[in-house]
Amino acid sequence: MAILKPDNKTTFGGVTVNEYLLTKHNPNHIAMPSVSMEGKIIGVTVHNTAWITTVAGTTPAEQYTRATANGNMNDVRVHYYVDNTCAWQNLPHSLSGWHAADGSGNGNRRTIAIECIMSSAYNATDKKSEDNCARLAAALLKKYNLGIDHLYTHTHWLNVRDGKSGSVDYLNTARNSYKMCPLYILPHWAEFKKKVQGYMNAGSATAPTPSAPAAKQLYRVRKSWFDAKSQIGAFSSLENARRACKVGYAVFDSSGKQVYPVKKSIDEIAHEVIQGKWGNGAERKKRLTNAGYGYNEVQKRVNALMK
Ligand SMILES: [Zn+2]
Repeated sequence: MAILKPDNKTTFGGVTVNEYLLTKHNPNHIAMPSVSMEGKIIGVTVHNTAWITTVAGTTPAEQYTRATANGNMNDVRVHYYVDNTCAWQNLPHSLSGWHAADGSGNGNRRTIAIECIMSSAYNATDKKSEDNCARLAAALLKKYNLGIDHLYTHTHWLNVRDGKSGSVDYLNTARNSYKMCPLYILPHWAEFKKKVQGYMNAGSATAPTPSAPAAKQLYRVRKSWFDAKSQIGAFSSLENARRACKVGYAVFDSSGKQVYPVKKSIDEIAHEVIQGKWGNGAERKKRLTNAGYGYNEVQKRVNALMK
């Protein structure tokens, strides 16, 4: 495929953005995300991907976009690639991406993804890419009226996925054995965050809307998150919620995530299903759903294991 031509060239937060939406251009029929993010955006997720050298007349962000359109980026779909000179937008903000490795979690489903193209050298070019990334992130947070604590790292979503809890700062930077991303920015994340905040403050007559203080965490004891009527209590202390939890019930945090008993992996559950521990037909479906597992997701894994 020849070097791509953007449909649109705009300036956003001081960064040149080339729009090339894969929803409009998909000559190779690559798989695409389909879940809407309309009205659900909670932040921006920052990634790093490796610097690549390009032929004359183009930039790494274009080349990554082209590689995606050519089906060479596996199942990575992001909203923006950004390099030292410009950004390329691949997905509309109304569509969720595939980038956070948290399945249907908030990272994939509710954040705008920026892949910042850099190298470990952290040379002048890398710093320019990082600066463009900071400008773009700031402009996006402002656009959605979100505060600086809605700036996430890829690793944040991996830590959430792995059941860690804590402040945004903690989850953004806490070591994750699967992946540390953005690899080149994480070592100075606090500094990067300050830079984004600076760009958010600059150029606006009023200070950015501070994000709402984190809602007080409440742990609810229910049969399932969706069965609000079954609730037997709501506790600010997880310990107390655990104590009140009876057989057939679970503890959910404010976002609806089951925190006790700790859920098993889809793989473990699929094996249990095969062993007959979850019954059959409608009963299986009901029991899995009540226990907080996605029936279809489990069944898909079962089918794959049975092949
Ligand atoms: Zn990443």
